[in-house]
Amino acid sequence: MTIPFIDLKAQYKALKPSIDARIQKVLEHGAYVNGPEVAELEQVLAKYVGTKYCLTIANGTDALWVPLMAAGIGAGDEVITTAFSFIATAEVILLAGAKPIYIDIDPKTFNIDVTKIEAAITPKTKAIMPVSLYGQIADMDAINAIAKKHNLKVIEDAAQSFGAKHKGHRSCNTSFAAGTSFFPAKPLGCYGDGGAIFTNDDNLYKIMKEIREHGSESRYYHTRLGINGRLDTIQCAILLGKMERYEWELEQRQRVADRYNEAFSSIKADGFTTPFVESHNASAWAQYTLTIGDRNSFQKKMQEAGVPTSIHYPRIMPDQPYYKEHTADPKADLTHARWAAEHVISLPMFPDMDNSTQDKIIAAVKGAC
Ligand SMILES: *Cc1c(COP(=O)(O)O)cnc(C)c1O
Repeated sequence: MTIPFIDLKAQYKALKPSIDARIQKVLEHGAYVNGPEVAELEQVLAKYVGTKYCLTIANGTDALWVPLMAAGIGAGDEVITTAFSFIATAEVILLAGAKPIYIDIDPKTFNIDVTKIEAAITPKTKAIMPVSLYGQIADMDAINAIAKKHNLKVIEDAAQSFGAKHKGHRSCNTSFAAGTSFFPAKPLGCYGDGGAIFTNDDNLYKIMKEIREHGSESRYYHTRLGINGRLDTIQCAILLGKMERYEWELEQRQRVADRYNEAFSSIKADGFTTPFVESHNASAWAQYTLTIGDRNSFQKKMQEAGVPTSIHYPRIMPDQPYYKEHTADPKADLTHARWAAEHVISLPMFPDMDNSTQDKIIAAVKGAC
């Protein structure tokens, strides 16, 4: 059997009775948009992360774009973010009309280096968008303290960290607002595109809800610019089924990560590191990401051993052609982010991974180092 990078079929098999029944129910009641499962899921998710509000939304990108729009961030404004993320992070800042200001990463966690944020604040700065990369929440206490001092909004890009914890708080409940993604490969995935936004702010919630529905205050009465950002009822039904065992899945991801860590602790190869998780954090393990000196050779050997790997991400955002042209600051020091982009590599990670499959991956890693 070939080893998958993520095994979604095993997960479906385990949840089949519940998911099939929930999908069937939607097919029969016919409320395919704004059906009862939407509000039901929003309640379940808000309760799970501990926020006052949750809004499901079409995808993780909209889940970040809408809070920026709702907070009034736009032309002439600057938003401070990490240089090292999936492109959607910088993309939404530009879609909102603002300018991303890229900060280098902490080379241990791959998250934004909070010691570099204050120097990047200008009179135009309106928000900070930290990314909880690979499932680990950024240093939110430090970020919130800086934001408070300079009157900035903090919006967490929690696309990879749903379920993670930081000092006892769940991801999506550590800042002014947060957006997560339910893309199938994320820790909590649906069967297509999906996402959710979280906040405790009454006013922001009201505005975001209107933006999600074409900026309408009531039906066919449009008081602001919006989008069509709704999440299909059927995806909400699927996510309700998935939430039934989500805590178990997080435990299993931790089990897989612990076994990898233990097995790799003696590897001494050049540039080799295993993931570092702060003691006050619990990762959602969206990815299990190593670094290695000679990544090309490592990846080739892993491929020959029949183990899929993936690179998140091979290029920092300001080095992407469009972003280089429109947003990059040639003076910015992004040394650690660029090093990471050249040396990170992720291994298969999914809750249903059995020990014998994992042992094959471990043997391949040891052989490839
Ligand atoms: C996946 C991802 C997004 C975007 O989510 P989509 O659901 O694919 O739109 C945004 N930020 C990060 C860090 C991501 O990994």
